[in-house]
Amino acid sequence: MSSVAVINQAPWRDTASENVLSHLQLPSIEGMADSLVYDVAIIGGGMAGLSSAQAFAQLGASAVVLEAQPALALGASGRNAGILCAGINMPITYTPKGSSAAELWSATQRKLFEVLEEAREQSSFIDVKRVGAMCLATSKTAAARLKRETKARLAACMSAELITAAEVSKLSGGFIDVSNVLSAMMLPDEGAIHPFTLLATMANRARRSGCQIYGEARVESVEPSTGGYIVKTSNGKTIQCRAVVSAVGPLEAPTGRIFALAFKVEIPESCPVWWDANPYIYYDYRPGNGCLTVSGGRYGTPGTSKFDLQYHSKMAAATHQWVPSLAGVEPDYAWGVDLHVAPDLLPELVALGDNWLSIQGLGALGVLPGLVLGERAAKQITTSLALCKK
Ligand SMILES: Cc1cc2nc3c(=O)[nH]c(=O)nc-3n(C[C@H](O)[C@H](O)[C@H](O)COP(=O)(O)OP(=O)(O)OC[C@H]3O[C@@H](n4cnc5c(N)ncnc54)[C@H](O)[C@@H]3O)c2cc1C
Repeated sequence: MSSVAVINQAPWRDTASENVLSHLQLPSIEGMADSLVYDVAIIGGGMAGLSSAQAFAQLGASAVVLEAQPALALGASGRNAGILCAGINMPITYTPKGSSAAELWSATQRKLFEVLEEAREQSSFIDVKRVGAMCLATSKTAAARLKRETKARLAACMSAELITAAEVSKLSGGFIDVSNVLSAMMLPDEGAIHPFTLLATMANRARRSGCQIYGEARVESVEPSTGGYIVKTSNGKTIQCRAVVSAVGPLEAPTGRIFALAFKVEIPESCPVWWDANPYIYYDYRPGNGCLTVSGGRYGTPGTSKFDLQYHSKMAAATHQWVPSLAGVEPDYAWGVDLHVAPDLLPELVALGDNWLSIQGLGALGVLPGLVLGERAAKQITTSLALCKK
């Protein structure tokens, strides 16, 4: 793979409308008064922070989002692969029963339906397609695992069914080469989302409910003070608030590097998202918005891009195997992102103080868990503040 023609970013900026891009613009906190007072300060304007902001604003709390970057969508939420997938980053069969992670499966499934529903509302810019997702088994071991996974998902009241290679081929309109596929697990509710459109919708709704979102507002410290906290930004602004939500995302303190690329290609409309059931291959393929976006694989070393070409070449070669019509075609976009990942990384809300919650563990699959936890943080804090008032 030559790197000459490849654009080093995700395709979302190029495929977003001017309207969507305009909602991602932020006023700089530089121009604001030196000291601001709110019920709650939300640190970080990604999926998790904006979900929280929207929920707080709708619950009637005065909220401010402090985003380090000059605009939205510059963190993980604007650089992901655009797969809308319920659950957490592990098979449901591996998730400890009765754990808070197990509960996130049903919560993210409900959130998935909500997003699909919201996309139908007039004020929504959300571009999402419920095309389904297929997990493809190319070995007997993987096929047996898929059987167990399908059973476990059905037991958890999630939609899943086993389908044949011929059905995979039909659903993809012949786009995918199924000659090595033994069977597949079809997840009919999953889909492809344009991440910028979701971020823009949440930002727009939060603002319309009175929330303020500032850019160039990197938070340097959160200190307890009478009745709440004093939050300070690196450019000397001070925010006095009763509660704090930290939603700084997985790009802070990275432990690995994740890779993605995208080919501009026409794909049959009905083609589902797909991935290989073999855990050691694990690339996700996401058709939509005029591209085939590919992400995942083994994680590289953070802080260096010198192996990017190697990783991207492997991903491109794997794509060529699944999609013979792309043989010899190079990707148009290829990007790498340093992020915090760990095998047991589970999305969770962690209390850092009274009415100070941190949303953590959103690694490589965090859109729906981020939306769930963001909203949950807002509900917990609003309830707690109301209790304190009594
Ligand atoms: C290449 C790639 C592909 C992925 N593919 C998918 C996928 O297909 N589907 C899926 O569900 N998930 C996917 N993910 C994961 C998903 O993108 C993340 O889990 C999710 O976006 C995390 O949202 P967040 O709000 O926690 O983080 P972010 O979007 O990173 O938001 C955090 C924000 O906090 C800001 N910030 C950080 N520190 C401070 C500070 N001190 N003060 C103020 N602001 C601060 C950052 O600038 C950032 O904007 C992928 C991730 C990557 C990198």
